[in-house]
Amino acid sequence: MHRSARHETRLVLASHNAGKLREIADLLRPFHIDVANAGALGLPEPEETGATFAENAELKARAAATASGMAALSDDSGLCVAGLRGQPGIYSARWAGPDKDFGAAMKRVETELKSTGSADRRAFFVCALSLCWPDGHCETFQGEVHGQLVFPPRGARGFGYDPIFLPDGYDITFGEMDPDAKHAISHRAHAFKQMIDACFTR
Ligand code: IMP
Repeated sequence: MHRSARHETRLVLASHNAGKLREIADLLRPFHIDVANAGALGLPEPEETGATFAENAELKARAAATASGMAALSDDSGLCVAGLRGQPGIYSARWAGPDKDFGAAMKRVETELKSTGSADRRAFFVCALSLCWPDGHCETFQGEVHGQLVFPPRGARGFGYDPIFLPDGYDITFGEMDPDAKHAISHRAHAFKQMIDACFTR
């Protein structure tokens, strides 16, 4: 049995990533929930010491809920490349380095894939969403979207690895796609739908 969040009027978004914050705010808009950002509240960013997307999502949401006294929502996500045995995976943000240079991170994916000699360009994005309460209770949901990688990067919309990701069934990358079109099919949207069904409609 999932815990209902239907009566929450305010949620803390436990993320310091502007791209994710924008997408999560878009996805929450229909629910008329007031959202506060962890950065604006001055909450510290915990170290991501988990071994999985779900563990990292939970530790971020739990820390924000405890520090703020409000229900908190976090997203841990990343790109898993088949030809790189799932890398960068939970290290997707770290591949961009301290300067958050995703041009360099996409180049690294390209270079490492080429060095394997494999023609396999399959990849998928994963998003784990965790909703935690100040009493420590957490609800966690995971979504994926599958596709192919393309080089060079295409498009300046979205964020992170979007310009090299061509979702299955489309001929444009997430970097070229209208935000609403991405929200209809993304890993984040799939995780969101599960969370809404489980926690916001009952
Ligand atoms: P973390 O969840 O804060 O560890 O960071 C996840 C990283 O994965 C982000 O910084 C992005 O590089 C990448 N990522 C997650 N979701 C997306 C997406 O929707 N598009 C592009 N890159 C993403």
